[in-house]
Amino acid sequence: MVERVTLYRAPTAAADASAIADWLRDRVDADVEVRDRFLQRVADEELPTAFAEARVLSPYERETGNAMLGIVRYEERAMEHPERAGGVIYDGLQVQEALRDRLPDDERTLDHLHVPILDRVLGTWGDHDGRWHKRVTVLGQPALVSVPGLYEAPAKPEQYYEEQQKHALLSGDAPPREVLESAVEGEFLVEGDPRTTEALCGYVLQAYHYLDTGEAFCDDASCRLANPHRQPGVVEAQLREPEFCEVHEELYGT
Ligand SMILES: [Zn+2]
Ligand SMILES: [Zn+2]
Repeated sequence: MVERVTLYRAPTAAADASAIADWLRDRVDADVEVRDRFLQRVADEELPTAFAEARVLSPYERETGNAMLGIVRYEERAMEHPERAGGVIYDGLQVQEALRDRLPDDERTLDHLHVPILDRVLGTWGDHDGRWHKRVTVLGQPALVSVPGLYEAPAKPEQYYEEQQKHALLSGDAPPREVLESAVEGEFLVEGDPRTTEALCGYVLQAYHYLDTGEAFCDDASCRLANPHRQPGVVEAQLREPEFCEVHEELYGT
């Protein structure tokens, strides 16, 4: 049984850990607390190297890691200035292991779930198709939640990418969000989306549910515990009624 949940703040204001904690407190039978940014709390001299080694080098290459001095320096700076850590995918399982090693000694039991909300893009290797897949979460202990993963992992509607290309050809830059939203059918979340906190609530509950019951995702597409592969599915599961399927409404309904 999970008796304690500790959330760690994200560097971005779009994900409000305190609001997620309030939401969770109303739905689970555990003490929920919020602490400052995980990477800030635990950063030691070895951590930037661990991140450098977890870097995905190519979308189709299993091998990760680039511990050249320049890269390690870059990772050191990114620990302190998270806004600079863009454009890289990290192996979620390697990052999870590095952070697990840095949990406080007396808080490593499985009745105390730790959930760092991170500003990094995380991926896992797909043995079935030989490529990296971006993830919103990496479940387990600690459970990692990736804010950019929320925007990038579930695919946006096909038309989004077409409009993006069209605009780039004409004007050489990225189209403003309003243009994309009005031109593209189907709903999706974009970077800094004001619905970020609301959507992440369900993903944090998934982390709790997994550690508490050993069950992963729910097959009901309307349930907060669903694992949609596309953005319109994220909107349906996380932002629309009903909140849960019948089974999970019993467990977590308010
Ligand atoms: Zn689904
Ligand atoms: Zn469900």
